[in-house]
Order: sequence, then structure tokens, then C-alpha cells
Amino acid sequence: MGGTVPAELTEQIDPHRLAMRGTQARQPHCVALQGVVGESAHCGIYAQRPSVCREVIPAWESGAPSAQCDKARAAYGLAPLTPEDWAEPLQPQSA
Ligand code: SF4
Repeated sequence: MGGTVPAELTEQIDPHRLAMRGTQARQPHCVALQGVVGESAHCGIYAQRPSVCREVIPAWESGAPSAQCDKARAAYGLAPLTPEDWAEPLQPQSA
């Protein structure tokens, strides 16, 4: 229907809606998620991710909190992101 998400990574959840495979499980884990949550993880289809994923902005990335981001992190035992998580690292002074 003109979407960007690879169809084989989705499942039908009702006559009108699809979801990413794995996200409807009791312990949701999207089939597109690569790596280990809490260590090093990323979306394997970032440029093609669904609109619902595009709407969840990581907390404080753009200067605003995100209750949905905090909730998702908490489900994996991770602390909420803070503004400091987005601070630019200090550059070493050249001599
Ligand atoms: S951002 Fe990527 S890995 Fe995360 S839920 Fe969406 S499609 Fe899955």
C-alpha cells in the first residue's frame, strides 16, 4: 500500500492494521531490532521504519521529555535518558 516497511517483517493484527513481527508478543521484541538492548542495539530498518516508530522521539534528543521513550526503556530495566545523554563530549585541547 505504498509503505516503506518490508512486508515480510510485518504481521496482520486486524483487517486494517499491520504490526512489526514480534511486537505483539507478551514480551515484545521487534524482528527488526538488531543487537542487545542495554548494550548496543539499533533499528535494522531505520530508514524504512514505520510511522509509529518515527513518531517516538528519544527523550531529550530534541530538548523535550518523552514518556513513551521512558516507558520503553523501563521495560528493559534501563533508566530514562537525560539531557546530559545528548551533550557533546568535550574535545581535547591541542597543545
Ligand atoms: S524502530 Fe525499528 S526496531 Fe524499533 S520497533 Fe520500530 S521497526 Fe522495530
